[in-house]
Amino acid sequence: MARTPDVSLETSLSRLSDWDGVSVFEPKIPLCAFEKNELYTLLTEGYGVKKFRVKQIYQWLYHHLVDDFDEMTNLSKALRERLGKSARVRTTLAGIGHIASDGTTKFTFKLFDDAVVEAVFLPFETRNTLCISSQVGCAMGCTFCFTAQMGLVRHLTPDEIVDQVVFAKKWARDRDQNVSNIVYMGMGEPLHNLDAVIKSVAIFKHEDGLNFSRRKITVSTSGLVDAMNTFMDESDVQLAVSLNATTDIQRSKIMPVNDRYDLETLMRSLKVLPLDKRQRITLEYVMLKDFNDTIEDAQRIVKLTKGIKCKLNLIPFNPHPGSPFETPEEENIEKFQEYLRSKKVSCFRRKTRGRDEMAACGQLGEPGERPLPKHLKKRLEILHSDRMNAK
Ligand code: SAH
Ligand code: SF4
Repeated sequence: MARTPDVSLETSLSRLSDWDGVSVFEPKIPLCAFEKNELYTLLTEGYGVKKFRVKQIYQWLYHHLVDDFDEMTNLSKALRERLGKSARVRTTLAGIGHIASDGTTKFTFKLFDDAVVEAVFLPFETRNTLCISSQVGCAMGCTFCFTAQMGLVRHLTPDEIVDQVVFAKKWARDRDQNVSNIVYMGMGEPLHNLDAVIKSVAIFKHEDGLNFSRRKITVSTSGLVDAMNTFMDESDVQLAVSLNATTDIQRSKIMPVNDRYDLETLMRSLKVLPLDKRQRITLEYVMLKDFNDTIEDAQRIVKLTKGIKCKLNLIPFNPHPGSPFETPEEENIEKFQEYLRSKKVSCFRRKTRGRDEMAACGQLGEPGERPLPKHLKKRLEILHSDRMNAK
């Protein structure tokens, strides 16, 4: 049975604005956009804050997870007021959207320009994963993905990314839980918003703050090869790559990025990525019925992944309005997985979560009345007509 959300979106939005006294959307400096050393410079040089106070402020932000300067009770009232005049702690208005029957919880974040992004809390037996967004919408136009229908509205700023984790951590803490893993698999293509993503990762990892281990953070890309190489040079967290098809013709039909970086280019780059001994790349494979779920596809996966330190995650397609695809039958997914395992490909099945509340992979976003992006519309038309011809 679906659990009832304990706080409605409206209530929590209005509560947050009451809390703040002034609108959080006033143009103020967002403290959560800065790495610790930058914050240090900003506060000591910009505000004349003493060194030890910066440490205290950092702890208020990332240990106590406060929403307001007034909660920083070991700072003088005068300092709190001075900071409050031109800086801010929170950047978004956050609310609890839906809790699905499996406990998956969708959070909604309203941004200063009224744009909305979502993050999803996924409780597992041994960990709680938070799936976060990096953009409002997405420019990549993958034909199986709901977010693609929005097109790219805009990139998120680092503080808008950080806010999602801080809010979820606080929400989890109130329930005696924790966020143990972060995956950049919500709305958007993280490597299209490289600088903000790199900065947010650094903030998540900082040992004096949220202190996530590099092994507990995963950034997923549709295969922007150049940005991926830059990212792997600058960051040491886990990488996931959405493979999703086994030939160029097939992949280009569902992922326009393949026209720019084809399979050979992508797989060649994965082979030479600098990985440490234990590190493996996660390859994600959305299974689309009668499109990429045959044994021939599985055979091609064996060839494609040769020489790449990877594990494969099979994600059964999550349906959404306007999609030409269906989820393969359970039996087919199992056969596909068994074949790959028999060929020694390390292959897992991504458990489907939150589907009943549109909180699963590829179900995030709110295209509303927006027209479909042109490149997506054209590809969808081709896929729909392929399906008609196949019938
Ligand atoms: N833009 C990044 C990360 C966000 S999408 C990327 O594409 O990798 C996260 C994952 O969800 C990707 O592996 C993507 O292929 C998958 N996905 C998208 N739409 C889906 C759907 N409808 N059903 C199942 N998985 C989907
Ligand atoms: Fe963007 Fe990822 Fe969706 Fe493709 S699958 S449209 S890259 S969010």
